[in-house]
Amino acid sequence: MKRTYKYRLYPTKTQQETFEKILSSCLWLYNHCLAQRRNAYEKDKTKISCFDQIKQLPALKNQKPELHEIYSQVLQDVPRRLDKAFQNFFRRVVENKNGKTQKPGYPRFKGKNRYDSLVYPQSGFAVKGNKLTLSKIGPVTIILHREMKGTIKTLTIRRTNTNKWYACFSVEIDQELPDKPKIENIKQEHMIGIDVGLNNFVTTSQENKVDNPRYLRESEEKLVQIQRKHSKKKLTSKNRNKSRLKVAQLHERIYNQRTDFLHKVSRSLVNTFQFIAFEKLNIKGMIRNKYLAKSITDVSWGTFLHMLTYKAEEAGVYVIGVNPQNTSQMCSGCGKAVPKSLAIRIHQCSECGLTIDRDVNAARNILTLGLTTVGTTGSNACGVEGLPSTVKQEALTLSGVE
Ligand SMILES: [Zn+2]
Repeated sequence: MKRTYKYRLYPTKTQQETFEKILSSCLWLYNHCLAQRRNAYEKDKTKISCFDQIKQLPALKNQKPELHEIYSQVLQDVPRRLDKAFQNFFRRVVENKNGKTQKPGYPRFKGKNRYDSLVYPQSGFAVKGNKLTLSKIGPVTIILHREMKGTIKTLTIRRTNTNKWYACFSVEIDQELPDKPKIENIKQEHMIGIDVGLNNFVTTSQENKVDNPRYLRESEEKLVQIQRKHSKKKLTSKNRNKSRLKVAQLHERIYNQRTDFLHKVSRSLVNTFQFIAFEKLNIKGMIRNKYLAKSITDVSWGTFLHMLTYKAEEAGVYVIGVNPQNTSQMCSGCGKAVPKSLAIRIHQCSECGLTIDRDVNAARNILTLGLTTVGTTGSNACGVEGLPSTVKQEALTLSGVE
């Protein structure tokens, strides 16, 4: 399996300047290659391949000497990245013809500061102690706050929009997943159904509730405020730039707080239970929600279910996604339909007399459905279906592995 470990870098002032210089040369190269492909097509309908563009790099270095300062593989990654943008564009053109997506955008020129990462695809770097040695740059201080497992495949150096530097290692872990216990050997208290919602982040079939932490809610409210202020600032003003940084910093803080919270909740569930059932959510539909606070929560759910899934698989714990239909309306005691609006927080069944919290009722139904799924299909693992790949990627790249 693949994992990404993310570590903070502490480059010296000179090293930072070198990084910036390299980034701006890469930006130049990216736009240069894009112009080339564009012109070739517009003039005589010819295509320039990624391979052609890589081949011309040595000649280009003589034209633009600062390219000599860049490690060759990092440089080669630039036309590759552009090629990926083109491939995505062509794919979207086809999808658009089939009526699947919106109008595809042609790859665009990148503006200043819009090229913010360098990729070392195979070599040119080494980690030893608290130093990451980069070819043509030298040893940069790195804080390895967590042990890295597996074989390193690629390294990406990234600058955030708050001007922090990170090293992201993508690794391949060659590890067999542990066997799961037989369902019939799992005790009742080690099985759980979880319901995710707006009122409580998680409600379990065992009547536990986990709330969004207060610090997180406060930061999110603050973000709404400063974003509103920011959008009122004049485009050219110095203040606007200052407020942009403020918004970015707060985004970053919320991101870190949220990731930390999601790791803790998913870790504690995986450590406590052997069978976990959750609702498959239509996350794709939810992310389009225009309300900021709501959309942050939506992304949280996707990331959370993803973390839960990979942690559970590594620990030999069942994770089963079930169809969310009717889980809140059905009585978990007798199966009777008990229709209720979202405002009604208590589930009260006239048939069997069960009176419980509506989310606990839903979580119990989810658990039952999960057990039925395993019973009928014999399948014992389930990924988070319906998760857009961006969410998956985000969960892995930005949080590392716990
Ligand atoms: Zn009932």
